[in-house]
Amino acid sequence: MEYRRFGKTEENISVITLGGMRFKHGWNPPRSLLPKESIQNCIEITRQALELGINHIETAHGYMKSENLYGEALKELGTPRESFKMMTKGAPMTGEETRALVEEQLDSLKLDYLDFYGWHGINNEERLKAAVKPGGPVEVLHRLREEGLIRHIGFSTHGSLDIIQEALNTNLFSFVNLHYYYFFQRNLAAVRLAGEKDIGVFIISPNEKGGMLWKPSRKVEEACHPLTAIEFNGRFCLSHPEVTTLSMGIHEPEHFSQNLSILNGEDYTSPASRVIQEKMDAPLSKVSSLCTLCAECLPCPEEINIPEVLRFRNLLQAYEMEDYGKFRYNMFEGEGHWFPGNFASKCTECGDCLPRCPEKLEIPKLLKETHANLFNRKAWFKNQVFQLAVSAAKFLRKLVPGLT
Ligand code: SF4
Ligand code: SF4
Repeated sequence: MEYRRFGKTEENISVITLGGMRFKHGWNPPRSLLPKESIQNCIEITRQALELGINHIETAHGYMKSENLYGEALKELGTPRESFKMMTKGAPMTGEETRALVEEQLDSLKLDYLDFYGWHGINNEERLKAAVKPGGPVEVLHRLREEGLIRHIGFSTHGSLDIIQEALNTNLFSFVNLHYYYFFQRNLAAVRLAGEKDIGVFIISPNEKGGMLWKPSRKVEEACHPLTAIEFNGRFCLSHPEVTTLSMGIHEPEHFSQNLSILNGEDYTSPASRVIQEKMDAPLSKVSSLCTLCAECLPCPEEINIPEVLRFRNLLQAYEMEDYGKFRYNMFEGEGHWFPGNFASKCTECGDCLPRCPEKLEIPKLLKETHANLFNRKAWFKNQVFQLAVSAAKFLRKLVPGLT
């Protein structure tokens, strides 16, 4: 295993993090009812992870059963507390909610303290303000740190580059969990800013949202050869010295070998890696009407996330990434601030965005084309049902805390 310093936290953590979002039946409410199969799955995966030298475990209050599962697994395994670092996250909206939530999370995890606590989802201006307001959640988290319940405070984000930079510049955080992959490099400036500020960088879901890399398109597979897509992207991420760790939602034993094969003895910038990257870069340069993801076209009055829609178009044209494009595109209009934006079919051709695009792209035409290629009613409906179930569970929990 390789370890890196997690920025100013001064903690050395494994470059592979065990992400706890995908244990068997882990998303079925209620959160505290733990099927034997789920516990066994969590025990087995956690045991193997620790044996392989993974010392960083990640979860969140929002991951339904996950904290409770880790609590059971770590107790069952009798893992010495000093042999792992635990990160969890939560999004209390007020100072009052914060202490109660952290205490509940410690209880679920059966721990006395948390190594890392991330305010979950600084995704827009409103949530940033709610998190950092005087007397608000982050201030209380700092108090809990002084009391010894939390050791380091950070945040996670799915927000725009501007929001991430604004949050980093508050100087209230020691680490950030963000999206940055080969197929999504928009946040490079945030990664660099974090590095300048000595803020640890944790990469969220490099294999799934980074491009569904366990199931690459034929073109991606060929361009990465002799590496797998997972190896190529993981090594790309780790070639940035600012990046500390990649979070992998491991829930099957075979995921370990897939992910551990990324490790390359810290040799992530070798000439051989550059040759493969050039091979990967080539198809993108041939895309007609390439969107550079600069975001100058925003805002759109119909709230279409133009750069993200056109990113899926870029990937479809360059790499035939149809499955990934459909998976992500059909999440629009269903995930709120986690993945904001309306379907491209909502474009009214008002033309507001056109003069702002430095590439002079025919944005309405490209949006229409992308919607026709990627919209899938079944996938969209499935996502809506899942989101409704999660919202219903949250609502029930507020109504009857003991129930869920
Ligand atoms: S032309 Fe379409 S995409 Fe552009 S701003 Fe108007 S509605 Fe939005
Ligand atoms: S301004 Fe043009 S190039 Fe930039 S993100 Fe919008 S569509 Fe893409």
